[in-house]
Amino acid sequence: MHQTIYDPVKYATPIGSKLTCKGWIQEGALRMLLNNLNPEVAKHAGELIKYVGSCEAAGNFEDLDCIITTLKMMENDETFVIQNGKPACIMKTHKDAPRLLISNSQHVPGCVNWDHFDELGKKGLMMADQMTPADPIDLISQATVQGTYETYATIASRYFKGTLKGTLNVSAGLGSLGGAQPLSITMNEGVALIAEVDEGLINKRIDSRYLDLKITDIDKAIDQALEATAAGKAISIGVLCNAVHLLEHMVARNVVPDTLTDQTSAHDPLTGYWPHEMSYEFAKVLRIENPKQYTLYADTSIYRHVELMLDLQSKGSISFDYGNNIRSRANERGLKDAFNVFVPDYIRSLFSQNKGPFRWLALSGDPNDITATDELIIKMFPENKSMLRWMKMAKEKITFQGLPSRICWLGHDEREEAGLAFNELVRTGKVKAPIAISRDHLDNGPAACSSNHETDWPILNALVNTAGGASWVSLHHHGTVSAGNSTHAGMVIVADGTDDAALRLRRILRNDPYMGVMPPVDTGYKIAQRTARENNLDLNLIFNTVASTVEV
Ligand code: NAD
Repeated sequence: MHQTIYDPVKYATPIGSKLTCKGWIQEGALRMLLNNLNPEVAKHAGELIKYVGSCEAAGNFEDLDCIITTLKMMENDETFVIQNGKPACIMKTHKDAPRLLISNSQHVPGCVNWDHFDELGKKGLMMADQMTPADPIDLISQATVQGTYETYATIASRYFKGTLKGTLNVSAGLGSLGGAQPLSITMNEGVALIAEVDEGLINKRIDSRYLDLKITDIDKAIDQALEATAAGKAISIGVLCNAVHLLEHMVARNVVPDTLTDQTSAHDPLTGYWPHEMSYEFAKVLRIENPKQYTLYADTSIYRHVELMLDLQSKGSISFDYGNNIRSRANERGLKDAFNVFVPDYIRSLFSQNKGPFRWLALSGDPNDITATDELIIKMFPENKSMLRWMKMAKEKITFQGLPSRICWLGHDEREEAGLAFNELVRTGKVKAPIAISRDHLDNGPAACSSNHETDWPILNALVNTAGGASWVSLHHHGTVSAGNSTHAGMVIVADGTDDAALRLRRILRNDPYMGVMPPVDTGYKIAQRTARENNLDLNLIFNTVASTVEV
């Protein structure tokens, strides 16, 4: 682990309309990189580790300093190359080329495993990374809240007549992404009961209004959750305990939650999962002093955790994996039924229609700039009812953390139209500084997770976005599901109000979502094939006939 030498003044995010770099694209990258270290946003104030176990914003603080200096001095016809969190070189390119190109954590496939990864990490040659720092618009809980909300909304409509009112929804982990769970559940009117061992993180979620209550006694937390469920009251409770202990109490009391999932970082047992057979304080020491033994304990707990999920599933809980590889870890330890905890396919049909996560951030730091964009989006797409419903709730319930931002799911043409309209807001001075636009890596095109046939797509996505002139483009291996199991591509496009930006926005916000339709077309999803046909997208569909194998 790298030494912490965080200086809150030195690393404060610049805000306002004045440039500290030579162009707004570099400025955008700088502000968003520093935003992710802002104590309001960062998982733990003062650390480079941002989220998902051990993912970092830069290799170390020296690298971070060099990245900051380079962003400040580079010209508008240059491209800065960052490799594994380290500043590598500056290349002469042209004004429409990305200002940053980033690759992190790549392995030749035959060499991928945690031991090799850690060995390289110790030598400073490898950094755990997801969409960072390449995609610093990855606004953590603020950004994942809608994806999680959509997942629970689909569960509600599939199993509970459209609302989670009167249902008990249990999970664990209030970390950077998991922190979005309680609010997503209460926004769907349900009760959330979430186990978390780190009291500081529970308090943080309460401060940011993502979580309603903290309870330290497991049985009291269960009682209060049951009372609220019976009364049809939407509340969220963070219970200070290990996930295994919470589920053991539930099984012993025969309390069967309606839904059950998990967002601990079980994909990385050493830095992301806390074992249940020892105190949290003891585990912190063991993790550093004897990582091998710690990992054995964590694996034993993961096995027990999934065993309990299966038990509750057999009694009626809708038990699903939320992309943290917990099933595979348990299966590797010998739990043969682990894969019965299913992976939901709740949002792929939206992707197949080319609807996806569209996010933006006000580089000025002024919440009024987001208000201006909110009003514009609401006015522009009055027929998009689910987006209107979401925006109303988001405006009421989501507290800004760091630079103000918004996420909402938009259709294909809508994303392009919104990007161009934001550029106009900047050009006409209706907002105080440019707007940075991105999307989640939870989208079809840019992410291949635990997939054995889709890995070309994120690589092609990065290449297409580079060709189109995105402001920065990144390629990551290792994402949410552990070494060897995923490849992700990130992109950001800055709307700085210029004509050049308008042309780039058109290309990127058209091509990037198009690339998202291609994987499900390739897999044989009917809806995706229809979308591709309507948009004259897929050459196989135009010139040949591709058999459809999947209904949705
Ligand atoms: P994180 O590392 O920031 O947070 C994990 C949290 O789990 C920590 O706060 C930790 O204290 C807690 N925890 C660990 N073991 C525990 C245990 N046994 N009992 C109770 N609490 C425990 O991770 P994150 O960014 O929140 O992501 C969580 C997982 O979800 C990751 O594996 C990530 O890859 C996966 N995931 C999330 C999304 C999403 O959009 N939300 C998507 C894909 C994957």
